[in-house]
Amino acid sequence: MHTLVAGGAGFIGSHLCDKLLALGHRVTAVDNLLTGSIDNIKHLLDNKDFQFIRHDVVESAPVLGGLDAIFHLASPASPVGYWTYPLETMLVNSTGTHNLLKLAAATGAKYLLTSTSEAYGDPLEHPQKESYRGNVNPVGPRSCYDEGKRYAEALSTLYVEKYGVDGRIVRIFNTYGPRNNPEDGRMVPNFVTQALTGKPVTIYGDGNQSRSLCYVSDMVEGLIKTMMTKEARGQVINLGNPDERTVLQVAMLIRELIGSSSPVEFLAGREEEVYRRCPDITRARQVLNWEPAVLLRDGLIKTVDWIREQLAITAANK
Ligand code: NAD
Ligand code: UDP
Repeated sequence: MHTLVAGGAGFIGSHLCDKLLALGHRVTAVDNLLTGSIDNIKHLLDNKDFQFIRHDVVESAPVLGGLDAIFHLASPASPVGYWTYPLETMLVNSTGTHNLLKLAAATGAKYLLTSTSEAYGDPLEHPQKESYRGNVNPVGPRSCYDEGKRYAEALSTLYVEKYGVDGRIVRIFNTYGPRNNPEDGRMVPNFVTQALTGKPVTIYGDGNQSRSLCYVSDMVEGLIKTMMTKEARGQVINLGNPDERTVLQVAMLIRELIGSSSPVEFLAGREEEVYRRCPDITRARQVLNWEPAVLLRDGLIKTVDWIREQLAITAANK
């Protein structure tokens, strides 16, 4: 099976490439390295079943024949990422998505769009089911990402319904683990780096806002199941871990696991903060027979080990 991973040098995309290769796929990763890194896939570059193409999918789809599946993960994902690259975010989710859909239609490859829990905005329904239509500000600070993904969902649905693409949409909820770029400002890499280096652990607002964190190996397994399950065609499926915690609880757990005495510092809240987020994964359980298996504590320990290693590498290179 020949599988394209757009965004394959990113955090989740690189783990997906690893897993697909382990399952016997031939994998082509396409990435313009906007928010990803060649370091995430350098261990794969000598693998004869793997090729990397540095390419911007906004310009065109990569020219590839004999394709069986297309995973579309190309997009900045963290608030800091899409605030740094708002136009690139809107373009990759609109034109980039269109290019990949045309490739799917032309080759007959199965297609999967990674959308986001941000499609629900600051939700008024809790936990969030796929049927919930969201509470999104179209001109707010997160709109380049939220509306970009909502457009990508609409376009993908059109290609499934009108142009016969064998497609499906996954709404990913907060995912963490090794290779989550420590510079991209997300909660887990920020707290772990701060706790490891003795710096204050920065909480935006009062820390009572919640998130539900999914370990990356669970996410990758869910993405592959969604692609491979026939009944997922044309569906929107939430993937995430419903183990909901407040941001302050996550910060305290990370400090405890590291044995850190970093102080906790409360800073101004983010503008238009999402106050609660937790997936209802009934559909994933029913359609895919999937649910996350990695406990938060275990996933965090692996993430801490990886970030500790990265900090040591950086220190040695100074
Ligand atoms: P990431 O930034 O690490 O990976 C995205 C990859 O896409 C990067 O390698 C980037 O260079 C690449 N990319 C961006 N624009 C591109 C373009 N025009 N052409 C080619 N490549 C391009 O982020 P991630 O966390 O791995 O997220 C992967 C996908 O999952 C994204 O689509 C994101 O919206 C979605 N998602 C992630 C999370 C999460 O918690 N990590 C949550 C919800 C949704
Ligand atoms: N957050 C925080 N301190 C940080 C980074 C993030 O308090 O150093 C909070 C942020 O305000 C949000 C949650 O952690 O409530 C998750 O933020 P992240 O950037 O990881 O992604 P989001 O879920 O908001 O897209």
